[in-house]
Amino acid sequence: MPRKAHPASRKNNSGPVPSKWQKARPPGRDISRILDPAPYIEKAGDGEWFVQYIPSVNAIKTYKCPECKRSIIPGTAHLVVWQQDHIFGKQRAIEERRHWHKHCWETRRLW
Ligand SMILES: [Zn+2]
Repeated sequence: MPRKAHPASRKNNSGPVPSKWQKARPPGRDISRILDPAPYIEKAGDGEWFVQYIPSVNAIKTYKCPECKRSIIPGTAHLVVWQQDHIFGKQRAIEERRHWHKHCWETRRLW
């Protein structure tokens, strides 16, 4: 009765693994930081804010910009901003997050 042999070498080869050379990005060419979906903290005259970039493909609803009072229509890359030091905590801050035109947020200088 023939036995099916399972090569032991498969255990470390369960999927395509990029080599360290493919993972490494050459410095100075990394424009993906601009599109990085992770929020960054912006310190402003009215507190500290989390600023989250929303790429156009993720903008699927219409929002109202608190600065210019105009709509941010679906498909428009924009920013979501919420307070980092909200007195009622992070959850409340996220519930009260606002969607801004990128230009409107950047020109909102309070200091
Ligand atoms: Zn606006």
